[in-house]
Amino acid sequence: MEQPGAISELIDALKRLPGIGPRAAQRISYQLLSGDRSDATRLGRALLEAVDCVHKCPRCNSLTDKDLCIFCSSPNRDDSQLCIVETVADLMVIEQSLSYNGRYFVLQGRLSPLNGIGPHEIGLDKLIQRTAEDSLKEVIIATSFTAEGEATALAITDLLTKHHPQLRLTRIAKGVPAGAELEYTDVNTVAQAMLNRRVREL
Ligand SMILES: [Zn+2]
Repeated sequence: MEQPGAISELIDALKRLPGIGPRAAQRISYQLLSGDRSDATRLGRALLEAVDCVHKCPRCNSLTDKDLCIFCSSPNRDDSQLCIVETVADLMVIEQSLSYNGRYFVLQGRLSPLNGIGPHEIGLDKLIQRTAEDSLKEVIIATSFTAEGEATALAITDLLTKHHPQLRLTRIAKGVPAGAELEYTDVNTVAQAMLNRRVREL
């Protein structure tokens, strides 16, 4: 059935979100536009406001509406540890696992040479600068256990060993199944993986 332009545009926009297929996009669109539209109005306002106010934290790349995010600005977190993740969603899973109280660094995704995504594209030059701070003792590499996540972990190990050999490099343990995304892993498994992390070896 041919959809009116505005509905079709809404469905198309929703389809582009992670985890939402064409059927779900259609269902959500009709739900939002049928009957009471207060949820749709609230969603639209919240989205516009977030797009307007939220930006990347200049120190760790996570998202914030302040100068620095809560993870960088909190005085109660351990400055001697830095955990490297691929996405803000991964960061939030580690937070929810309650297994870590250090600082974070969020990559801009992971290495994918075939798609033209190299060390510069995922922000490794900024990581080298961030890890130069004297208070830092341990870097925990929490990239995914996919082929690209592992390649990214290897590249980080290589770079940090070269630039900051005094740092202790650890990798979260494989409590997380091979091929899995951190974002979709339950928090207990993530907590185990964080507790069982090991020194990263080349
Ligand atoms: Zn931050």
